[in-house]
Amino acid sequence: MNTYIGLDIGGTKFMVAAGGADGAVARVTRAATPVDLAEGLALLHAMIAEVAGGAPLAGIGAAIGGPLDWQTGVVSPVHQPQWRNVPLKALMEARWGCPFHVDVDTNVAALGEYALGAHTEHAMLYLTLSTGMGGGLVVDGALYRGAHGVHPEVGHQSVPFRCAHPERVACDCGAPDCLEALISGTGIRRIYGKAPEALADEEWAEVAYNLGQGLRNLAAIYAPDVIVLGGGIAYGQGELLLGPARETMAAHLRIVPAPRVELSQHGYDTALMGALYIARQGLR
Ligand SMILES: [Zn+2]
Repeated sequence: MNTYIGLDIGGTKFMVAAGGADGAVARVTRAATPVDLAEGLALLHAMIAEVAGGAPLAGIGAAIGGPLDWQTGVVSPVHQPQWRNVPLKALMEARWGCPFHVDVDTNVAALGEYALGAHTEHAMLYLTLSTGMGGGLVVDGALYRGAHGVHPEVGHQSVPFRCAHPERVACDCGAPDCLEALISGTGIRRIYGKAPEALADEEWAEVAYNLGQGLRNLAAIYAPDVIVLGGGIAYGQGELLLGPARETMAAHLRIVPAPRVELSQHGYDTALMGALYIARQGLR
């Protein structure tokens, strides 16, 4: 029986799963992300060995923060400062003797939504709203890619926003007016000076309005069947955030039909499940 491995290599947490060719998950293990690169790689190898239980591996898939080159498998996750130009594909294939595929976490999570069967529409846009913000567009089961394989960064669009503290809107990327700076966990802390769970109703109303403007742009440009949201901010507020965001999107959208806007049904495992999927299916 073929064993496949999925890796979710996050800035705070590693998750590693083993599964079969049919997609069933056999074992999952989790650990805190070490700061040191060598320590991190050694831990990943140990976690893979643990979930594989001695079985030969048929493929490994991984989700990690961007930027990266999905074809060469060289990664430089922006929130893991010691991981710069790491040839992860070469390292993993040399150690485990099986094909290794890696892509940006939001892309892998989008494929996870698709693979889990919840969203098999023609065009599904998956958005993660957590510390940062990103997304992945799946068209007929394949990821949409930009020129030279570049990953589109939907969080770094600008929107006509509402904010009681416009002088505090500043994105980590250096641009002055990104959507991510308005609605991500990092952006919310910078603007409102407190954790997202402590926001007042009128502050959430601003966040929801700004999200809705972002959804409107994405709907107008991509015209997806559905926009699925995951990540801690989306799960934390749920319909309290999605409801008014959906209304703002619909109120500002013309000509293009409004897509459905839904919460992901797969919680924090979406990227891990997507990693197992690309371990089985490869990437294109
Ligand atoms: Zn930005």
